[in-house]
Amino acid sequence: MKPAPFAYHRPTTLAEALETLAGESYAKVLAGGQSLVPLLSMRIAAPHALVDITAIPGLDTIEVSEAGVRVGALVRHADLLAHPDVRRVQPLVPEALAHVAHATIRNRGTTVGSIVHADAAAEMPVVLSLLGGSVEAASTGGTRTIPAEELFLGPMESALRPDEIATSAFFPALPAGAGVAFEEISRRQGDYALAGVAAVVHGESVRAGFVSVSDVPTVVDLTGVPDDELGEAALAHLDPAEDIHATAGYRAQLVRTLVRRVVTKAREAAA
Ligand SMILES: Cc1cc2nc3c(=O)[nH]c(=O)nc-3n(C[C@H](O)[C@H](O)[C@H](O)COP(=O)(O)OP(=O)(O)OC[C@H]3O[C@@H](n4cnc5c(N)ncnc54)[C@H](O)[C@@H]3O)c2cc1C
Repeated sequence: MKPAPFAYHRPTTLAEALETLAGESYAKVLAGGQSLVPLLSMRIAAPHALVDITAIPGLDTIEVSEAGVRVGALVRHADLLAHPDVRRVQPLVPEALAHVAHATIRNRGTTVGSIVHADAAAEMPVVLSLLGGSVEAASTGGTRTIPAEELFLGPMESALRPDEIATSAFFPALPAGAGVAFEEISRRQGDYALAGVAAVVHGESVRAGFVSVSDVPTVVDLTGVPDDELGEAALAHLDPAEDIHATAGYRAQLVRTLVRRVVTKAREAAA
């Protein structure tokens, strides 16, 4: 199948891109195209126009500071994964990124695009949520910061308005004394996870984020939960579903196994 007809715009400034987006009745931003192009080809999405943001300068920067890591909208997963300083400030970012798709897809797909695509089967939306990060959004009306806890509204639905472009995402630094870990199980290396778990342990605080076992990226506070009850405590907030790859029961079992393993690893990393 081929995409439905659409107008194609490739602006060279952010202002021009925002004006174009505001002037179209149903437009989509095109970044790495690794999710949008398949949706167009299958006609699951049929926007009237695409606003390709890849020619806009200044959106491809990674800023690492003691406060955290700011990732521009055109930073590819592969560039973020390869950055020499990101792991020192926020190790959960490369830990999770290594599980995002295959190398060829990481070479084109953007981390910000993945976040605003808001797929609960993707790694980086839940990492942003777990770390309490945020997204910077721009429109012709100005800019705003959307905290991760307000970003994910429903299955593949973000709080980004149709006239907004996400210009960057911010991952806060890991506090001293905290530890993180990430693990997932997929049928083949690089496939979407059947289930995945990220954890942050800081002192008594234990929090975990879950991939592919709910409709929206979900973070559960597991502080004070005994190790042998972590799985059931997490599952009380999750809704593993059956599909052609796994039964709901198998996904639930992966949650039980992974959450205990990942929390233990995060504790060891914190020690
Ligand atoms: C075979 C395959 C396997 C994959 N496996 C995984 C996986 O295991 N884990 C995973 O997380 N992902 C996976 N992906 C998806 C990949 O990570 C994509 O890069 C990512 O989901 C979207 O990033 P993109 O830059 O390609 O966005 P696009 O495809 O260009 O856009 C995706 C959506 O986000 C919107 N958008 C993008 N950028 C912006 C922006 N700056 N402002 C506003 N809206 C924006 C678009 O309008 C569109 O609705 C896989 C993809 C494929 C094809």
